Amino acid sequence: MLMIAPLLLFGSLGMTELLVILAILLLIFGAAKLPQLGGALGKTIRNFKDEMKDGQAPPLKCPKCDAEITDPAGEFCPKCGQKVK
Ligand SMILES: [Zn+2]
Repeated sequence: MLMIAPLLLFGSLGMTELLVILAILLLIFGAAKLPQLGGALGKTIRNFKDEMKDGQAPPLKCPKCDAEITDPAGEFCPKCGQKVK
């Protein structure tokens, strides 16, 4: 809204002039803020991934044949049929 209010004052200007002003504003503010936004976004994604990794339980393994139980709801080993829960 702060960006739009000053533009409304230029009511006598044509569409082309408004677009030029908008483009200049985007260049000034956009170019300055884009790297920050990118960095913040990258950090957020990294934190999110770390949390996902920390929150994951270690893979369940069959006590008999040591096969990984890929189905978290599965009660039996898919390889040898050993009950794992
Ligand atoms: Zn097994």
